[in-house]
Amino acid sequence: MSIEKIITENARLVGIEVNDSLIEKLKIYSEQLKEWNEKINLTAITDDEGIAIKHFIDSLMLLKYVEIPENSRLIDVGTGAGFPGLVIAAAREDVFVTLLDSTGKKLKVVQDIAEKMGLKNYTVLHMRAEEAGQKNEYREQFDFATARAVAELRVLSEYCLPFVKKDGYFISMKGALADKEIENAANALKVLSGKIEEKFNFDLCSSGERNIIKIKKISQTSTKYPRVSAQISKKPL
Ligand code: SAM
Repeated sequence: MSIEKIITENARLVGIEVNDSLIEKLKIYSEQLKEWNEKINLTAITDDEGIAIKHFIDSLMLLKYVEIPENSRLIDVGTGAGFPGLVIAAAREDVFVTLLDSTGKKLKVVQDIAEKMGLKNYTVLHMRAEEAGQKNEYREQFDFATARAVAELRVLSEYCLPFVKKDGYFISMKGALADKEIENAANALKVLSGKIEEKFNFDLCSSGERNIIKIKKISQTSTKYPRVSAQISKKPL
């Protein structure tokens, strides 16, 4: 079955809309991802069904559950090969997406793929999250921060919440261990001015449990955070 068909059928099953223009972009994305993956290690998922479901549909689920107003600014922290950020940029060309990662070679690939997809609503940022979060040009400048498979929630909150404007959201995409991570992140969220507003739990097309955690930034984050990397890992909040 073609990747176009796999995307269309699974999108219908989970109740998300994918138009022809998005399908075309995702087809280019999958071809490029496979080609680049032979040169640098981007993803362990290399078959069409895996790419369609575990990367594309999984990323699009965020748009099913979270309403992102037109012209929002979103930062995807630890985007890797572009998940979920580049998929969101492809699906929502009215949203401006910053794709941040500490690995420059992955961002070069992401930029190349985004150009081939014909996208204009994105930029790449080669920096560690905890460094960018202390810079005025990025700190509290985004309506949304997203992250998938980067760090445990209490650490990730310190990376992501400083980017978010007051009343904006940090959207964390997690697997089956979400509840344990939420429990461990109670203090971090309090300290960083985040409040869990909703959690969406679903099965991703029979590929396993997923959770989307919607965390509201209720007031400005103290400038003490994010701390330097060594402190974050040695003494997570
Ligand atoms: N989000 C993508 C996904 O779900 O496929 C990539 C996940 S990959 C396992 C984690 C990525 O986060 C890597 O590309 C890594 O370079 C990046 N990363 C980890 N810690 C980071 C930090 N402190 N600042 C920026 N990027 C970071």
